[in-house]
Amino acid sequence: MRVVVVGAGMVGHRFADDLARFAPHAEVDLVGAEPHAPYNRVLLTELLAGRVEPGALTLPRPGAPVRVWAGAEALHVDRERRVVATAERTFTYDHLVLATGARARRLRVDGLDPMPRGAHVLRSLHDARAVDAATEHARRAVVVGSGPLGLEAACALAHRGVPVTLVSASATVLARDLDPVAGGVVGRSLRGLGLDVREAAVLEAVETVDGRVAGVRLDSGTVEADLLLLACGSEPETRLARAAGLVVDGGVVVDADLATDDPRVSAIGDCARTPGGTSGLVGPGWQQATALARRLAGASPAPASVVGGAAMRLKAVGLDVVTEGVRGSVAEPDDRVLAVHDPSAGRHVEVVVRGDELAGFTCVGDGDLAAHLSTQVARPGVLPPDPLQLLLGTSGAAPTTSGSPTTMPAATTVCRCNGVTKGDLVDAWEDGCTSVSALADRTRATTGCGGCRRLVQGVAQWLEQVDPPASQPDPGARERSVPAT
Ligand SMILES: Cc1cc2nc3c(=O)[nH]c(=O)nc-3n(C[C@H](O)[C@H](O)[C@H](O)COP(=O)(O)OP(=O)(O)OC[C@H]3O[C@@H](n4cnc5c(N)ncnc54)[C@H](O)[C@@H]3O)c2cc1C
Repeated sequence: MRVVVVGAGMVGHRFADDLARFAPHAEVDLVGAEPHAPYNRVLLTELLAGRVEPGALTLPRPGAPVRVWAGAEALHVDRERRVVATAERTFTYDHLVLATGARARRLRVDGLDPMPRGAHVLRSLHDARAVDAATEHARRAVVVGSGPLGLEAACALAHRGVPVTLVSASATVLARDLDPVAGGVVGRSLRGLGLDVREAAVLEAVETVDGRVAGVRLDSGTVEADLLLLACGSEPETRLARAAGLVVDGGVVVDADLATDDPRVSAIGDCARTPGGTSGLVGPGWQQATALARRLAGASPAPASVVGGAAMRLKAVGLDVVTEGVRGSVAEPDDRVLAVHDPSAGRHVEVVVRGDELAGFTCVGDGDLAAHLSTQVARPGVLPPDPLQLLLGTSGAAPTTSGSPTTMPAATTVCRCNGVTKGDLVDAWEDGCTSVSALADRTRATTGCGGCRRLVQGVAQWLEQVDPPASQPDPGARERSVPAT
């Protein structure tokens, strides 16, 4: 079987790697437009903040049958002849997988057509390097967009010492992910970090001098700046699919098996529109990649393809924000909504309890509590007698211990990007992966957004105690500590 994958981003790479495992005899060509090896795009804001080295982004080389073609943009697909053409060569396929991802959405305001020097988006390593270089001499940056990407980028620039104005079209930041009360706390925390936050602001024009950004004009006045970062969302990259005559409607349209209207062509990741919608997150894209690799390899049953769940974890320097599941504003009448609102300490914690389970939470300003709460969501029967204790987490007077590595059920998901459970980590440990990095290599936990690192470290520390690497395993101890699920 000859498989061509167009797009060597996070999802195309995962698909090729998985197919190499499931179908070692397949011939796989991974064709990517970017001029470097596949890398972890999610960590670009961490790179900008100087918290990771560029080399740490590179994804592991896929297994042997995969040939990786970097700097190779697919220009044309001939579905009759089953050929993909780049400028340099052609690739023949039995099955074609489109993983062309998404691109940054451009704003239509005066001064941005063409993009002046000093104006940037942040989607690729190339973009991140350009912003990084501009940061060296920037006197002030304006970041337009107050979603997760805008906040992460704004905090990264501020962390680098650049004065930042954050322009938010909505009345509070992170408006799609947080209720206004929680968003208000985040806005206040951003100001505490030294950012100039303009909420409910309308960007009227970008001002330029000699083709270079000189500032922005808002409805409330002008802000002088020499660095402009547009973080206004992304849109599926569908140009190749459309030109090939495939059905495109807000993404390459696929069915539940990730097949397009041509049975020899599939689409996965940010470019695909599944029956559940488009994803925009790496976790669902990776699940699609694995599901499709299994299906093409004839392995079954293939897990259902999914789109994103309601979860958001910000990776911003100096700011902890995590939200998962149901928010207070959309709670049902019988739900219990409990909250601690402590804006001057930069804290807001809210839990939504439905029946005997935690239906969702929002946690601003307390990373440890957020890590604890994320192990509790949608687990019937683990709530403390009074859900008020959930707000106190592990530092409260009467903490629940159900989120600790010792008592978490084996089925608890630890790494959401990769769908890794505590049980998977325990199995890997028993197989000799007795460090966080070995656990990551084996299970892929921590290799997505990295937000689960604390939990994985906690599980590793616990295993170190109950099953030290050098000693004989004590299955009794394990059985006592890991309830079967
Ligand atoms: C800065 C940043 C931070 C993010 N943080 C998070 C996060 O914390 N959590 C999360 O879940 N998600 C996050 N995301 C989103 C996440 O990165 C995407 O969901 C994920 O990368 C999607 O993977 P993909 O392979 O579908 O698309 P992409 O990663 O966009 O890769 C698509 C690749 O296809 C290539 N391509 C396109 N057209 C062609 C062609 N014609 N020929 C050859 N190659 C082509 C592109 O150059 C690109 O390399 C973040 C995104 C960014 C930009």
